[in-house]
Amino acid sequence: MATPIAHVVVAVALGNALNLPKVPLRLWLLGAACAVVPDVDVLGFWAGVPYDAWYGHRGLTHSLAFAGAVSLLIVATAFRGERWANHRHRLLAYFFTATASHAVLDAMTNGGLGVAFFLPFNTTRYFFPFRPIEVSPLSVPAFFTARGLEILWNELVWICLPALLLAVLILFARQRRAVGNSAATS
Ligand SMILES: [Zn+2]
Repeated sequence: MATPIAHVVVAVALGNALNLPKVPLRLWLLGAACAVVPDVDVLGFWAGVPYDAWYGHRGLTHSLAFAGAVSLLIVATAFRGERWANHRHRLLAYFFTATASHAVLDAMTNGGLGVAFFLPFNTTRYFFPFRPIEVSPLSVPAFFTARGLEILWNELVWICLPALLLAVLILFARQRRAVGNSAATS
């Protein structure tokens, strides 16, 4: 895994693309939760579930099917109101992307087993060819060492700065579109 901080940063950066009239706090909180929830499988890992099992680390909870199920569940329960009727497809896409972004980052780390993107249909574990992200230890004490600092620095360079750049580009594109629309209607 990358650290939870890095996963949340990416989810928040992606949230800028939603372009909703008013974004409620729960959307940001749920987006952040989506970005870290796949690592719930660490509990099984600590309880002795083999790493390469379906329910092992980077298994089913890191799959695209899981991201789909989580996004459907969130939109069906937290965005039921009439005011969301025209935005649900975008909300679904956002929560799916926020959840799946976790597995994408994990597949770019330099350690552990690959990610089972296609469970329950295919058990193959995948890594991307480009893997610049330092893998984060699964145990909390191991993180509070010099290695922890090294990992945070690596994530700042490879995840946080690109995410910030992405957020700025999205905001810039939205602003340009808003200016274009107001010019077209004036
Ligand atoms: Zn993970």
